[in-house]
Amino acid sequence: MTSGGNEFRQKGELVMENGLEGGVIYALSAWLRDKIMATGLARIQLDLAPDRDLSRIVSDLSRPKGSRSLATHLKRRVGIEGVKAALLRECVPKEDFSDPAILGAAMKALPIQLVSPRPLEEAISTAGGVAFSGLDDRLMIRDLPGVFCAGEMLDWEAPTGGYLLTACFASGHTAGVGAVEWFQTIFGM
Ligand SMILES: Cc1cc2nc3c(=O)[nH]c(=O)nc-3n(C[C@H](O)[C@H](O)[C@H](O)COP(=O)(O)OP(=O)(O)OC[C@H]3O[C@@H](n4cnc5c(N)ncnc54)[C@H](O)[C@@H]3O)c2cc1C
Repeated sequence: MTSGGNEFRQKGELVMENGLEGGVIYALSAWLRDKIMATGLARIQLDLAPDRDLSRIVSDLSRPKGSRSLATHLKRRVGIEGVKAALLRECVPKEDFSDPAILGAAMKALPIQLVSPRPLEEAISTAGGVAFSGLDDRLMIRDLPGVFCAGEMLDWEAPTGGYLLTACFASGHTAGVGAVEWFQTIFGM
């Protein structure tokens, strides 16, 4: 995947449902969010066949289709079917499907415009929260002694993809131990 002038490349799983999600997009989500907030739009390019180079795709697409439908030709020759085929149809003009060079180039760098993150109610994780500079080592708020923060309360760009729960447990443990120590100190227990 590449993103506009700044080029990031990320290979991995991409899920399409109400938008894009999955490991590929999670890795870039902070950058994409900031870009959308700044300019109203983030442009990315999807490589629908990351394990095939362009020349091979063009050559495979150029082979005679025979009596097969275009859908079967794409599936058999270059492994494009399902959501990938639907995306290609959405983004490439119908007349360009007969040009292997244009179709192949689109498969390797399909332009997608992202216009907004999904709403907060659907968020798997959030950015923003209490800054680490406002916390001590026990994760207690310096200006609110006795109040401890953990998990999504913390301001960190959580690396979505399995690490959130680990970080929530770890920061929860730190805050919990810190709270016990603090109360023992305050109440002399
Ligand atoms: C659909 C989905 C899938 C996810 N998949 C993964 C995954 O595969 N791997 C992974 O690592 N992470 C995953 N996450 C993220 C992970 O679940 C969260 O980061 C984590 O649960 C956050 O824990 P937390 O304790 O910080 O917050 P929460 O789990 O949100 O806990 C906050 C609690 O505070 C309560 N609360 C809120 N306001 C008040 C109040 N005023 N008074 C009292 N209680 C209140 C809430 O009811 C809630 O129980 C997923 C999240 C979602 C939504």
